[in-house]
Parts: sequence; C-alpha cells; structure tokens
Amino acid sequence: MKLSVADVAVKGKRVLLRVDFNVPLSGERVVDDTRIRAALPTITDLLKRGARLILATHLGRPGGEIRPELRLDPVAARLSELLGRPVCKVDEVVGREVEEAVRGLAEGEVLMLENIRFEQGEEANDPDFARLLAQLADLFVNDAFGTAHRAHASTAGVAEYIPAVAGLLMIREIEVLSRCLEQPARPLAAILGGAKVSDKLQVLHRFLELTDTLLIGGGMANTFLAALECPLGDSFYEEDSLEDARDILEASEDSNCCLQLPVDLTVTRELKPHSPFKNVAVGEVAEGWKAVDIGPETASLYSDIVAEAGTILWNGPLGVFETAPFHRGTEKVARAVAGSRAFSIVGGGDIVAALEGFGLADEIGFISTGGGATLKLWEGAALPGIEVLQDKE
Ligand code: ADP
Ligand code: MG
Repeated sequence: MKLSVADVAVKGKRVLLRVDFNVPLSGERVVDDTRIRAALPTITDLLKRGARLILATHLGRPGGEIRPELRLDPVAARLSELLGRPVCKVDEVVGREVEEAVRGLAEGEVLMLENIRFEQGEEANDPDFARLLAQLADLFVNDAFGTAHRAHASTAGVAEYIPAVAGLLMIREIEVLSRCLEQPARPLAAILGGAKVSDKLQVLHRFLELTDTLLIGGGMANTFLAALECPLGDSFYEEDSLEDARDILEASEDSNCCLQLPVDLTVTRELKPHSPFKNVAVGEVAEGWKAVDIGPETASLYSDIVAEAGTILWNGPLGVFETAPFHRGTEKVARAVAGSRAFSIVGGGDIVAALEGFGLADEIGFISTGGGATLKLWEGAALPGIEVLQDKE
C-alpha cells in the first residue's frame, strides 16, 4: 500500500502535484475535461487543508521544445472554472519567474506550471531538472496515474529529492485495478480487443493465469485466427506476432482460463463509413475482404458470458468502432456489460471513447484514467511513478 496524501500534513506546505491534464484541445478550448475532473478530489482536499499548491502536467508531445499551441492557458482556465477560484498560470516550468510566483503563493492558492514537456529534462528524467522541480516544493504528490508507467522527471525523478506520496485518484486506480485481479467476484471475465497482439502480449499471458474467461476481438483476434491458419482475405493482422499468438493459444491449453476467439466476423471490401458488408463464419473470409468487427453470433456469445460474470475487465474495442456500422459488435457487448450485475472495469483510450459514444460510460463500475498504465498494472509490472512513492507503514 502506498502512503496517501490524505495521511500527511500539508498546511502551509508547498505541494508539487503531478496531474495528468493531457486533455484534447480545440484552439483555446478544452474539448473533454474528464481528466481534469478526475483530479479535483485531490486538488480540493489539498486546498481545503491549506496547501500552497503547484500543479504540473504535460500536454501532447512537444518533445522538449516550446510549442505555443500546447501552452496550458486553456487548461488552467478550465480548471479555474471547475474550482470556482483563480488558477494562476506561469509561462515557464522552472526558473526565476516560477520561483517568485511560488513565493507569492498563499495557503489555499493554486499555481500551474507551463507544459512540463517543454523542458528536455522531463522525458529524459534528467536529475538536474528533477532537482530544480523539487526545489519548488516541500512535498511531491503524484496523481497522474495515466503517466505513471513513464519514468520522467515529474513522475519519478523528483521523488529522489523530496517526500513523495500518492494522490487520491492514484490510490483509487491502484486499489481498484489490483483488487479486481487479486480478489475478484467470480467468474472473472476479461475482454481484450484493439489492434495488436504485440501491444498486449504480457497482459494476455497474465489474464490467462488469473481470469476464468478471456474473450478476444478486434484486429488482435485476426492475428490469433491467422495463427490457426484460418484464411483472412485482406484483413489486418500481425505477421510478426503469429508465433506469439501460437504461444498464447498453447498456454491457454494448460490454463484454467477459457480463451474464446470469434466464431463469426463482419467483413467488408473497403473500410469506409457504411460500405457494404456481410457476416461470415470464421474460416470463410474470402480474398478481397477484410474482417473489421466480430460478427453477430460472436457478439451474442460474448454478451451471454459477460451477463453471467461477477467481474468484467475490458481493454480494446472489438472492431473498427470509429467507422459505422463496424461499431456494432463492440456496442452489443458494451450493452451486455452495462446491463450485467458484474462489477466492470474498463481501461484504454479507444474503448473508453467508444463507451462514451454509446452513452454507456455511466453504467460502468470503474473507468480507469490510464491506457498504457492500466495495462502495465494488469501485467503485474512495476510502474515507475508508483514505485517511487512512500509505502504506508
Ligand atoms: P485501446 O485504446 O482501447 O487500448 P487499441 O489502441 O489497442 O485500444 O486499439 C484500438 C484500435 O483498434 C482502433 O483504432 C480500432 O479501429 C482498431 N481495430 C479494432 N478492430 C480492428 C480490426 N478488425 N482491424 C483493424 N483495426 C481494428
Ligand atoms: Mg488506443
């Protein structure tokens, strides 16, 4: 267990809070403020308890250079609206201007640093840059679960120099994502989709050990079917991962987990909105056709399985949900997950976007703010941004 910010004194302290405010922008407007709202409990708690709060986040991939369109002014403005109080924003990450602003910060006031990835030292986890950041504060709080799988200066390096504890969102993410594997209500069903087997190899192996049923869909399913020598026409699959897919299929034989592949597929000649399609049994994908979704029989089968589950974990869409009507398999299973009595936990940028598009996000037990970080935790890997935090006595 990691020490929570709730367990430490913060009054009058300068607190450096790393958040993940990597939100989509359209010009000067924040299009989706989910990630900002997810950190509000930690922020309001710190302010209420009289911390002098310094916020750090990255936005996009400026790669160590100043990119005007990735400045954080719109993010600070949105946070200010949500908090109903001013958020002072500086145009630098470290340096004189920032030090002065921190000196002027009273208890219960918030300051936001500029996009931390404008500094080369951030992604390089440069100790000198980490020390400069640490000198701004007395305490480091990490609430950026979505970035916890990266060892950067503001997620890991800074903890070398000042005490480091977990934010409330971080604590909740770790608790929910770990507990669902350690003490799940059974049966434990996992759904894995998305484009690639190679992105999710470790998590596939771990889920074989820990889950009762593993339902596979998306482009990933094509690679498994190719490994079984099913004809796939012009479908996307990963030639380089056939061996890995075979290993997983073999491992599933020796496991207590039932690994389920699609029994039918939706195929089209051309991947564009509303292009003609048909549903075919696995093994009957003809030349010139691409498998772009699980078929209706598979969607029913997967829906029946999740309806009986005690816990459901889901990462990755089951088809090319961005292109109608190839969202249908994902949507049908999503409705079954939403309607199931099971506790459901979903993580991954695309699957969360899909659920929001279906209007089902509110029916899910827990939506993780992580994508890569969620997968790493489910793999059982150590996340640098969590490792550096103090343990609870
Ligand atoms: P997540 O973000 O939920 O972890 P991924 O990033 O792994 O998911 O995968 C999402 C992508 O997988 C989507 O862009 C989707 O179009 C693609 N995809 C799903 N099914 C297929 C398929 N059958 N063929 C090609 N791409 C697919
Ligand atoms: Mg994705």
